[in-house]
Amino acid sequence: MALGEEALRDHIKTIGLFRNKAKHVIALSRQLIDRHDGEVPKTREALEALPGVGRKTANVVLNVAFGEPTIAVDTHIFRLGNRTGLAPGKTPLAVEQGLEKQVPAQYRLHAHHWMILHGRYICKARKPECWRCAIAEVCAFADKTSAPG
Ligand code: SF4
Repeated sequence: MALGEEALRDHIKTIGLFRNKAKHVIALSRQLIDRHDGEVPKTREALEALPGVGRKTANVVLNVAFGEPTIAVDTHIFRLGNRTGLAPGKTPLAVEQGLEKQVPAQYRLHAHHWMILHGRYICKARKPECWRCAIAEVCAFADKTSAPG
């Protein structure tokens, strides 16, 4: 809050949608002070009531800050859930619910990080690298790719 929106914007200008994000962070910081004694709330409902916070962000905060085994579905996880057949769904919420059923409890806390990394470096959006994928044998994707060359 003391930094102000303009200076904050300058600090985060290398990330996507930084103007909107700076606006939301200032507005939500004000709400944290006014309504939550300056603390980040621990419930999904209170988190999603903050400016700029949707289900995905609430899931990230619940998971990383408060240790809850939530699965935040970003673009990588949405693609993976559908492409592999692990948790197909038309919406991020459907994929999230499918993954909650499929991922064994002992892996759920860190599952979204592992899936994001898998999506970013192996099961890439435009061309997945199936030839070096550790889960190729159990993946349902029909058009698996081969090594180049
Ligand atoms: S086999 Fe290919 S499509 Fe399936 S998870 Fe691995 S990289 Fe993705």
